[in-house]
Amino acid sequence: MGLGSVRPTVLVTGAAGFIGSHLVDRLLAEGYEVVGLDNLMTGDLGNLESAGRSPHFHLEIGDVREKLEVYAEVIFNLACPASPVHYQRDPYATLTTNTLGAMRLVDHARQHQTRIIHASTSEVYGDPLEHPQVETYWGNVNPIGERACYDEGKRVAETFLMDARRVHKADVRIVRIFNTYGPRMAFNDGRVVSNFIMQTLDGGPITVYGDGKQTRSFCFMNDLVEGIFQASLASDLDGPVNIGNPRESTLLELAEVVMREAKNNVSIVHKALPSDDPKRRCPNIDRARKLLAFEPKVTLEDGIRQTIANFRERLELRKSLPVRRRPS
Ligand code: UDP
Repeated sequence: MGLGSVRPTVLVTGAAGFIGSHLVDRLLAEGYEVVGLDNLMTGDLGNLESAGRSPHFHLEIGDVREKLEVYAEVIFNLACPASPVHYQRDPYATLTTNTLGAMRLVDHARQHQTRIIHASTSEVYGDPLEHPQVETYWGNVNPIGERACYDEGKRVAETFLMDARRVHKADVRIVRIFNTYGPRMAFNDGRVVSNFIMQTLDGGPITVYGDGKQTRSFCFMNDLVEGIFQASLASDLDGPVNIGNPRESTLLELAEVVMREAKNNVSIVHKALPSDDPKRRCPNIDRARKLLAFEPKVTLEDGIRQTIANFRERLELRKSLPVRRRPS
């Protein structure tokens, strides 16, 4: 895929989501014609405010579980709630979005020779017994736990896609996304970065689940989008590729960074650890480095600073909106 005289058309499913909307902005900046698809289950039209001003973007409200009728040379599949709080609210929707969605995409790729970039996840590794996680690791997933609708759904989606490659020579590429954060994260999506920032700006306390010694590796949005975009340009990508930032932090360390960057020291309260919560997570990104020349550039401190600034801006905007309450 390259930009010739005609603007290639790409489809982004989950376009109104946190990652989807940033990817849309990037693709528009790169000169593509972008069609977004979203069922607005967790997406927010406000995320598409800037894309909506472009004559090269249009949005369809629809669901990846239904037959895709859109013409596109490349499809980026980001349709699925991704925060544990959201994806566990309607596990059936999560599981079917992942599995039926992948099935529809594969059908489309086979019929129309469409290239597919599919957003998989570090959750396919479950609560990993190998560290850091390399793509060849098969994972440690509880198939009947509360996270299974997402983890197993994403695993089945990978199976659909890899079979489509093997059996039908479909051009499908899988990126396994590790924890990502940045501007536009929903205030209330329940993820650790948005929770810690909101709690710190609110004067605390910060809620740490468990002892806070579990780790995650946080990747700033722009770095992630670069990785996904490069995955679409590569001449081929056979097998999944981890995209994330290999700097691993405990949650207590993350809390420190948030408080420091927000210049507000607040108290910490510990709450029960959710079931099947992975103890350690860190990507091995050698494959992405080699195949996509991928290298995350934004430090946790810089990224958190930018994210806090964005949260503050949006909170101010929300305060200034004229809200009229209905008389009771
Ligand atoms: N977590 C926390 N406090 C919160 C929200 C999350 O301590 O307010 C923990 C959660 O238990 C997990 C980590 O932060 O260990 C990352 O959680 P998140 O929901 O962001 O995503 P996950 O990586 O688990 O999918």
